[in-house]
Amino acid sequence: MNIAINKTTWYDSKMWGSLLLLVYTLLAMLPLALAYSLNPVSGQPLLQAIGKGAGLLGFSLLMLQFTLGARFHWIDQPYGLDQVMIFHKGMGIFAGALILLHPVLLALSHGSWSLFVNTSWPINFGKAALLLLVLTIVLALFFKKIHMDYNTWRFIHKGVILVIILGFVHSFIVGDDIQNTGMRAYWIALFTIGILIFLFRNVYVPLFGRQRVQVSSVSRESHDTWTLAFESKNGNALPQHRPGQFWFLKLIRPGRSSEQHPFTISSSPIGEPPMTCTIKESGNFTETIGKTQIGDQARIEGPFGRFSLVNYPAKSFLFIAGGVGITPIISMLRYLHDTGDTRPAVLIYGNKKEEDILFRDELSDMPEHLKVVHVLSEPDSNWQGPKGHIATDLIRQETENLLEKADVFLCGPPVMMDKMIETLKELGVAGRHIHYERFSI
Ligand SMILES: Cc1cc2nc3c(=O)[nH]c(=O)nc-3n(C[C@H](O)[C@H](O)[C@H](O)COP(=O)(O)OP(=O)(O)OC[C@H]3O[C@@H](n4cnc5c(N)ncnc54)[C@H](O)[C@@H]3O)c2cc1C
Repeated sequence: MNIAINKTTWYDSKMWGSLLLLVYTLLAMLPLALAYSLNPVSGQPLLQAIGKGAGLLGFSLLMLQFTLGARFHWIDQPYGLDQVMIFHKGMGIFAGALILLHPVLLALSHGSWSLFVNTSWPINFGKAALLLLVLTIVLALFFKKIHMDYNTWRFIHKGVILVIILGFVHSFIVGDDIQNTGMRAYWIALFTIGILIFLFRNVYVPLFGRQRVQVSSVSRESHDTWTLAFESKNGNALPQHRPGQFWFLKLIRPGRSSEQHPFTISSSPIGEPPMTCTIKESGNFTETIGKTQIGDQARIEGPFGRFSLVNYPAKSFLFIAGGVGITPIISMLRYLHDTGDTRPAVLIYGNKKEEDILFRDELSDMPEHLKVVHVLSEPDSNWQGPKGHIATDLIRQETENLLEKADVFLCGPPVMMDKMIETLKELGVAGRHIHYERFSI
């Protein structure tokens, strides 16, 4: 059997990614360019010109944040959702810094801080927006440190819509750069698009944009990991994924809260359904995953992600997995196996103990050109295989000449991934051939 699935599409290409970045930059910079062309920097005090520019650029970037956070496939595909979210976070901080600079520079330029005690309502809207924005950014940076639940944080994070509304009203009334017709039209357009995307993400998608599925089997994979299989609820085919991709899964279980979490689709994308997720008990939500019942309802959104071998035309593959990080890799191995792909591949799979190894029987049954090496960091005394952490010598020894033409796919705990990226670079693997998925967005 040799079935090619999911040919890459035009929006997977680097050119599309570059075009998106260009359009994003233009959209963000346009208000600044318009404002400075109407009111040149040379015609006003420098601090005032920079202060106004900081406000305009910062708020444009903020209005574009909804586009980055909307999980559009055409933005996810060229970059991967994790990279898009890293960019979203960076731009949020940058926009916040600019918006914070805006009143400070204006006050310095006027030589008076009366702006901060001014009580006219449009100015107060601006002050409230600034305060809420700072709180949102501080929370985004520190919610894990203060042990805030992820879903509580996400709920509060959506409150940024208030910042947009307050900030828009403030700038529209007070901003003398936004009194020109062209500028007003652009500002309204950017605001309206931002609001529509917010509504799309938070109202339309939850109501209509997720496919209804139900759990068709629950099986124990190891002492702390379970595989759930899903079938369509309404007879529609489940969305086709690329091996290695993930979806957002919302399990609706009686007596338990329904939250959406990202999980890799561990099944092969070809062949018969069902589609599966393999989930480790690790926190508030996942610790009860084994209590899921056949017939439980769920909603899925996706697939997402660029972490798939079909996106890279490699001659050979090195897969490195740690713990439950095997899930995208097993999907790729199953795909290689199911398609009769004979390109050589090596999997180096690290775990603490033998009982942590997932899919052990299946991995031992892989054809000869898919070599599997298990490494244990805390093995029992009778373990015969490699011990310790995956290290340079082991990779060199197990891959021999394969590494020269290989693309490497890496997924595991954060510390291991950082170490592996360093090690692979030391071994001469170019950054563009190292692909990884982090289990955090
Ligand atoms: C692309 C991707 C693929 C993943 N694939 C798998 C997989 O195949 N198998 C597996 O076991 N795990 C996978 N994970 C990890 C899994 O999503 C988290 O373990 C799970 O969400 C933790 O939830 P919790 O409430 O049990 O744990 P908690 O202890 O509450 O959360 C631990 C961390 O998980 C993240 N997290 C929690 N809730 C959410 C949420 N609703 N949405 C997004 N992130 C959240 C946060 O970073 C949080 O700090 C994947 C994660 C990502 C990003």
